[in-house]
Amino acid sequence: MRPFKYALLSALLAGVTMPAALAEEKEAWRLFVSDHGAATVTAIDAEKGDVLERLSLKGPAGLYRTDSGETVFAVQGSAGTVQAVRSGIAFDDHGDHGDIDISDVKLTDFALAGGKPGHFVELRGNIAMWFDGEDKAQLFTERDAARGEAKPRPVSVGAAHHGVAVPYGDYAVVSVPNPEDASKRPIGARVVKGEDEQVGAVADCPGLHGSAASGSIYALACNTGLLLIEAKDGVPEIRHLPYSPSLPEGSASTLIGGKGIRYFVGNYGADRIVLIDPAEADGFRLVQLPTRRVHFAADPVRPQFVYVITEDGKLHQVNFLTGMIAHSLDLTQPYSMDGHWSDPRPRIAIAGDEIVVTDPLNGKLHLVDAASFTKTREIAVEGVPFNIVAVGGGGHVHATE
Ligand code: ZN
Ligand code: ZN
Repeated sequence: MRPFKYALLSALLAGVTMPAALAEEKEAWRLFVSDHGAATVTAIDAEKGDVLERLSLKGPAGLYRTDSGETVFAVQGSAGTVQAVRSGIAFDDHGDHGDIDISDVKLTDFALAGGKPGHFVELRGNIAMWFDGEDKAQLFTERDAARGEAKPRPVSVGAAHHGVAVPYGDYAVVSVPNPEDASKRPIGARVVKGEDEQVGAVADCPGLHGSAASGSIYALACNTGLLLIEAKDGVPEIRHLPYSPSLPEGSASTLIGGKGIRYFVGNYGADRIVLIDPAEADGFRLVQLPTRRVHFAADPVRPQFVYVITEDGKLHQVNFLTGMIAHSLDLTQPYSMDGHWSDPRPRIAIAGDEIVVTDPLNGKLHLVDAASFTKTREIAVEGVPFNIVAVGGGGHVHATE
């Protein structure tokens, strides 16, 4: 409420009546949950627990929200397509305060077809969609997709492989396939201008897999360390951050990035995670988990916290600053990491002051209060709720526009 009072006070002191003085503060969060086997996404009002919309897609989807939260992308690997959903929550920066604009959830007309859609990367409204079965990645903007228009720009990736592209306007960073066998892990990354003009040398990154953004840095995980990408005057530059010699043998192949604090967290063996401070030469700390890791997520609101769910059904709060597990909570039934990697297992999203965890085999979401780290409620979801993203926040709703 402080910004509101401040705006009101400023208006009174200035002797004018500002529309902001009539504004009402409103907070809204929506959960988007895809089914493990069915081609559906359920949009849920997080506060009320009500289903807002049940959208029919072409195939089961992995979900990605953009930084703005205005769009949720449904990457449908088996159906060979990517669709875009307007979340119905948008924010407008008014300088001293932000407005929240709430409207209906809507499946847009945007559809991007291609062989085996894989990794999705968004940076500041620019999106790079990777297709494992194509020798080109496709770049487009969130703005076009939200309007239902697909105007992708192709970027050559050499040969079809399981890799990643990172969008930087006219440039992109793309993985470099193994020249002997493109079905193996990529060997490096390169900067490409336009469709296929390489800028500079290939940066070595054997075994490249896993990537995440944190602040102005985008990181790719390699067997040897991380590649850190930062744009200088709009042109991406790549440097290598080697793993610390003090780490045991291993490497990361899945990364998440901190928001508000610049850090990365990776897997490092099945039952450990590694906390990475990219500003330090020896900024790697291992955290031993009690059992194998199922999923992890960084808290954008309380940026020092990372949540990890392990196969024993426990949710852990890891404090990046101390490098310790601060709290653990029994949440779901056990979900063994034996079996297929794509079996239904819990996934984590953060919706404001709540941590939301899917429990696919029990058809529900568990909601945990982030402050007390206790479970507060459940939301039932039809089918096998699997992937989840949350969008929302607080802002002004003006009585007069
Ligand atoms: Zn406003
Ligand atoms: Zn992958």
